[in-house]
Amino acid sequence: MRDVLAKAGEMKGLNLQEVAVLTGISDPLQLHELFQTANHIKDTIYGKRLVLFAPLYISNLCANECTYCAFRAKNKAIVRRSLSQAEIELETEALIKQGHKRVLLVAGESYPKQGFQYVLDAVQSVYRANYNDAEIRRVNVNVAPLTTDEFKLLKAEKIGTYQLFQETYHHQTYKNVHLGGKKRDYDWRITALHRAMEAGIDDVGIGVLFGLFDHRFELLAMMQHIAELERVFGVGPHTISVPRMEPATGSDVASHPPFPVSDLEFRKIVAILRLAVPYTGIIMSTRETAKMRSETFALGVSQISAGSRTNPGGYEEEVEDEVSGQFSLGDHRPLDEVIRDVAEMGYVPSFCTGCYRLGRTGQDFMDLAKPGAIKAHCGPNALSSFMEYLNNYASPETYKTGIQLIEKTIAEMEGLPADRARKLVDRVKQGQKDVFC
Ligand code: SAM
Ligand code: SF4
Repeated sequence: MRDVLAKAGEMKGLNLQEVAVLTGISDPLQLHELFQTANHIKDTIYGKRLVLFAPLYISNLCANECTYCAFRAKNKAIVRRSLSQAEIELETEALIKQGHKRVLLVAGESYPKQGFQYVLDAVQSVYRANYNDAEIRRVNVNVAPLTTDEFKLLKAEKIGTYQLFQETYHHQTYKNVHLGGKKRDYDWRITALHRAMEAGIDDVGIGVLFGLFDHRFELLAMMQHIAELERVFGVGPHTISVPRMEPATGSDVASHPPFPVSDLEFRKIVAILRLAVPYTGIIMSTRETAKMRSETFALGVSQISAGSRTNPGGYEEEVEDEVSGQFSLGDHRPLDEVIRDVAEMGYVPSFCTGCYRLGRTGQDFMDLAKPGAIKAHCGPNALSSFMEYLNNYASPETYKTGIQLIEKTIAEMEGLPADRARKLVDRVKQGQKDVFC
């Protein structure tokens, strides 16, 4: 184990056997060493930055029968709704008003009469939305697997990351929990990220729905999936998501996961991933409680959602519909409160979309993502995007906490990053928007 931790400390990632060694750790002292190594890697590569986004559920229509999800076709207990393009714009405006700049567009696998064009139009609607001269700058997408041609169309709409979770890599379990619809086809799903990359989408997001099968198996299988993407395309996924199954209306499985993942195991999963693929972002959603979310920041999480609703229309109408949402949330706090809390912990909330807009995606991003290099760009950009949030959206209390954090962070920076950060933040203080390097 010590050999593996020492190798991980070099920040070049781990192979399958090495990950297997780490999944076997249960001794508290060994776990402590694992967590310390994860914290060291997180700090060295990412610093104190945490990127924020909001999911945007455009439709809960679905033709599939995933036994763990409230949106499954036969579930009569939820109200079905797909937002019109005008409603999607309004919903986006509600997010812009909160200060969001990044959106993850989510839908069930069944679209209104326009078919897949509905999703393409939705991306346009999000980018079109504008409130007080502010807009969403990056739209990531989590929709069912597409054909290569459809992925090309999605790319043409200038999406950021295409995200898709295999849910479980275990064939029999996959069969048991996917009872109807196109999603029954394991192979169509597991090859989707390949098709997305073939179609030219540089940034893809991978993930497992933890709770369906043994998490150690899932981790190793996901590592193989990542290795295969690296082998074929020379670059692996941009992000990994670690959704843990939450209760969902009309689902027994979701309330009683066959392989529940304890809080300790969950932290271990995040830490192992941080060691195994150090340059791949780890996303933590509001499925988890504020406490669990903050514990995992230190272990490797680099992106979080905040103020989320999983029922279509939930932002504009300001309703958190626990019944018609996709699953129960663990963190219900509004964005401003999450930001203040994160800032009080010393993490810098970032709304930066600079890399993507400067074309630093896929391999180019990975080239940049070397210790120091991320800090030189992302550190200053995080601060300027945070300053923009504070200027335009923060409550007085959050503003005060935020300004103190910005000053403290710049004071602790050195050399070029410090100069850049000071200049960018000053420009935003003088009223400029969207400045990045
Ligand atoms: N319908 C598409 C699909 O299934 O790939 C995309 C959107 S789906 C709403 C997004 C993800 O939500 C799924 O991939 C699944 O991992 C997750 N999910 C479903 N039910 C869940 C539950 N009960 N708790 C936590 N996450 C859940
Ligand atoms: Fe539909 Fe996706 Fe839910 Fe499955 S997970 S029922 S495909 S929305």
